[in-house]
Amino acid sequence: MNIYVFLGPPGVGKGSLSKLCVEKLGWQQLSTGNLCRMHIANQTDIGKKIDFIIKSGKLVPDDVITEMVSDWLIKNYDSNRTIILDGFPRTVIQAKAIDDLLKEKFPGSKINVVKLIIPEKTVISRLTSRLICGNSKCQAVYSTMTKALAPKDINVCDKCSCKLIKRQDDNEQSIKERLAVYNEHENELLKYYSKNQKILDLNVEKNLDEVFEDFKKLINLK
Ligand code: AMP
Repeated sequence: MNIYVFLGPPGVGKGSLSKLCVEKLGWQQLSTGNLCRMHIANQTDIGKKIDFIIKSGKLVPDDVITEMVSDWLIKNYDSNRTIILDGFPRTVIQAKAIDDLLKEKFPGSKINVVKLIIPEKTVISRLTSRLICGNSKCQAVYSTMTKALAPKDINVCDKCSCKLIKRQDDNEQSIKERLAVYNEHENELLKYYSKNQKILDLNVEKNLDEVFEDFKKLINLK
């Protein structure tokens, strides 16, 4: 299994780049944030447990997230398709857990790490102008600031016509907390992965199409 881990703070554009990789390269995207929001919308036992954690911008416990990822991989595994881990791992405990899982269930898998780089002030303005589709099965992402990411009709999803909403955690307080949580774990994660590989840096302070072209070049894809 070929896997790309997209590392970067909330709002850096992991989801938007992943979406292009899915549409244009046929890859699969595993977004742990989307999985969490789906649990909350469906009011599952996990959803009830994590609702407040997500609203406040803290991390969901490692074991809960790791189990979600493991279940998803086992269900969706397709040897022909590269998988993007969008928002996972966020801690070294999670990174070790996925390494163990791959060793046991998918031997020969390779993890490649791409670090998405952007100044913090850009991240904050991206987060505050973000809208997502309120349909938990869709969760398409839009922006009120970037023309290329604007919906065709105001507040309506281009894909499924459901209403667009603001994410519960895209408020000033949670944004601050999420950035602090990301910064707390970033160095440790980079240290963990750089033991065995060269981490690929991608500047994402550009329009999305350019970022996608740069990404393909970075990984030697035509
Ligand atoms: P995201 O959509 O990636 O910004 O994630 C939204 C929220 O879901 C995060 O702020 C966390 O509360 C939770 N979450 C998503 N992925 C993880 C993860 N790998 N570990 C812990 N919590 C996560």
